[in-house]
Amino acid sequence: TSTLRLILGDQLNASHSWFKQVDPNVVYLIAELGQEASYVTHHVQKVCAFFASMAQFAQALAKSGHQVLYLTLDETQHYADLPALLEHITATHQLTHFQYQHADEYRLAQQLGSLLLPGIAINSTDSEHFLLPFSDIQTEFTPKKHAKMEFFYRRMRKRFNVLMQDGEPLGGQWNFDQQNRASFKKNDLGDIPAPLMFANDVSDILARLKRHNINTIGKAESQLLWPLNRRQSRELLDFFCQHLLIRFGHFQDAMTENSRADWSLYHSRLSFALNSKMISPSEVINKVIAHWQAHQDDISLAQVEGFVRQILGWREYVRGIYWINMPDYATQNALQAQRPLPEYFWTANTKMNCMHHTIKQSLDYAYAHHIQRLMVTGCFSLLAGINPDDVDQWYLGIYIDAIEWVEMPNTRGMTQFADGGIVATKPYAASGNYLNKMSDYCKSCHYNVKLKTEDNACPFNSLYWHFIQRHQEKFQHNPRMTMVYKNWQKMDAHTQQAIINKADNLLENIESL
Ligand code: FAD
Ligand code: SF4
Repeated sequence: TSTLRLILGDQLNASHSWFKQVDPNVVYLIAELGQEASYVTHHVQKVCAFFASMAQFAQALAKSGHQVLYLTLDETQHYADLPALLEHITATHQLTHFQYQHADEYRLAQQLGSLLLPGIAINSTDSEHFLLPFSDIQTEFTPKKHAKMEFFYRRMRKRFNVLMQDGEPLGGQWNFDQQNRASFKKNDLGDIPAPLMFANDVSDILARLKRHNINTIGKAESQLLWPLNRRQSRELLDFFCQHLLIRFGHFQDAMTENSRADWSLYHSRLSFALNSKMISPSEVINKVIAHWQAHQDDISLAQVEGFVRQILGWREYVRGIYWINMPDYATQNALQAQRPLPEYFWTANTKMNCMHHTIKQSLDYAYAHHIQRLMVTGCFSLLAGINPDDVDQWYLGIYIDAIEWVEMPNTRGMTQFADGGIVATKPYAASGNYLNKMSDYCKSCHYNVKLKTEDNACPFNSLYWHFIQRHQEKFQHNPRMTMVYKNWQKMDAHTQQAIINKADNLLENIESL
């Protein structure tokens, strides 16, 4: 027999049991595909990062003695899609078996699940990456039902015995949020370490994207800063442990435009290495905990717990939410938001400094950290009632780590409340006040964060109340929003009307904000 095994761009897991032994009857296929480069308009650095990592993975496999068929866009351009390419290869290479790892995206899972290859036996296997086995998603989550991340996370801590002692959470509590989430003071900014950036030559890939007219967004860099193999992924993880973990939790929600600070602050930037599976979540968690154990005098448990929560908690949780609710999840629009995404999401050309800074950084680096995604671009889209399809497309395209299983529950669910509360118990709506507290964006903004209705008033302020008012029926009985509605009702009718008029006016002129 001879077998073709497909490795997708986000399946670069060198520890997979497939690779334990070299089998002369097995050929591995790694292919740049037009369908993957254009199912959404991607950031150019994202396409380069995936294609370059795939090439490096193919080389590493070949070096270990495996047979590899590596195809670039030049070779795959004549095939309409992945099934067409597979049909051609299996028909011309005298193969008897085709095997693939379960895809993490619904789109690809459907495509592979409905594959028919004449005379070829097809089977699939696990990608061996996540902590929670795929089959357990059904017991952990219920379709269309709210699932609380905190409780899921606690179950994962117990199940995998992470930061536990005698069945109890280490340090006596599950959550250290109260010690975390500070904003920067002036003196803190000078201490932020410069990020570890690689300089991977991707000029050949850039030329290829041009040659094949692949439409992209963002700043092209021939020297790519993102990790492209296991060695670089591990270096990034070591760098995080040595320089960033110490303040990760503390400044997790802080934002700054200060030029003394760097764009990724105390964040790990491991999301691309993780989502392409070059590095596994358990490896990251174990390494971080081991580092902390050896440096407990310097690094507090709160920092480590804050980080572990993101990977063992949030990352596994959103995957469960995605799979238990797809394909319905992709069409949810609980708040019936219909407005198209303003043009400045693609240009950063807006007078709102928080938005300008977050979008510009996203276009330059294919990266924004969590609180920028959630409370700047995400919150603005929520307040302005942007169609979640548009919001999803933007997030799915622009970020280096954007793959639908993780992008969609965060975007459509957490930020837009379009899933009606499957992820969040209340919408992440905030006025300028929150951004002013957590960032220094407002100081140099064209708008004044203290004002609501004046010409130069911060748009987030009136849009916030507009959101609260227009969704009153839906949220006024939500116990987590009682205070907000009390505050709204305390305002006199004249003030309320002035705010609503102001917001209506902003929404009519949304492109010129
Ligand atoms: P760190 O802050 O260093 O966190 C460490 C790791 O924890 C991340 O690498 C990531 O793997 C994981 N993590 C943290 N928060 C989340 C979360 N909410 N959901 C899942 N994993 C999390 N993350 C993606 O990987 N891909 C996406 O497409 C994506 N889209 C997002 C869209 C929106 C609107 C929001 C609010 C968040 C999104 N996130 C996404 C989650 C999070 O913002 C990114 O994982 C994080 O910013 C990546 O940077 P980092 O590696 O420096 O993260
Ligand atoms: Fe953003 Fe408003 Fe602050 Fe300007 S004033 S940076 S628009 S929150």
